[in-house]
Amino acid sequence: MNRKALVFLSILLSAVIMISCGGEKAVKDVKEKDHVKTEKVSEKHDHAKPHWTHHAGADGPENWANLCEGFKDCGGQAQSPIDIKDAVLNETLKPIEFNYGESKASIINNGHTVQFNVDPGSFININGKKYDLLQFHYHATSEHTINGEYYPLEVHFVHKLSDTDLAVVGIMYEQGEVNKLFEKFLQHFPTEKGEWKSEEVFNLAEILPENKSYFHYSGSLTTPPCTEVVSWFLLKNALPASEEQIKQFSDILDKNFRPVQATNGREIFEYSE
Ligand SMILES: [Zn+2]
Repeated sequence: MNRKALVFLSILLSAVIMISCGGEKAVKDVKEKDHVKTEKVSEKHDHAKPHWTHHAGADGPENWANLCEGFKDCGGQAQSPIDIKDAVLNETLKPIEFNYGESKASIINNGHTVQFNVDPGSFININGKKYDLLQFHYHATSEHTINGEYYPLEVHFVHKLSDTDLAVVGIMYEQGEVNKLFEKFLQHFPTEKGEWKSEEVFNLAEILPENKSYFHYSGSLTTPPCTEVVSWFLLKNALPASEEQIKQFSDILDKNFRPVQATNGREIFEYSE
């Protein structure tokens, strides 16, 4: 092959790589993930992304970083989830101010999780910064562990200040009383890709536990592109759900958790009310 042909081939090759899974696309995915709308749970959107799964194998968590250039952060040094242990009391931490309001229900199964997209207007204030609530979604089992212990479910409330500054509040579920939110909506959770919508509003503040003491550390999105832009706040107090609800929801979520990642010297802080 002559030089010209080689140059042409390498240009062609890099173009193909850019199209199939370039870094730019990954950034766009973060944005889209934050603003998922009905039409975005479409075949078209899915085809734009490399296929990945939570289950072991070629597309599984161990290989996410190698699936494409845009996913290379998945092999980074500040990844989530982690095991929460040896947390340090930090006097300078402040309470999270939750300013959650009402929202209509828009429940999406995107093939990786079951997600509630919420109406604009809910937000948290933390360390003098305002983060808007975009959506909340679920993992089974939990992604984070606390002193090595898994919980049956974990919810992530995803808030955004900017593309490079997200705050995610994670809350564990443990077996106990019937969960009111699940009682209302579990029967409508799409069991495969799709969406269920209702005009009926529910109060987001009612989902939260009364005591909002938390653990805090710096990490990443727990799904590709695993961008390391997340301030994590894991509430210490779990929410209840009945055995039947946990089972029913876990069957839908189908083990959609990423294994815990190395802390690599990151400090974990705690705040107690
Ligand atoms: Zn999550």
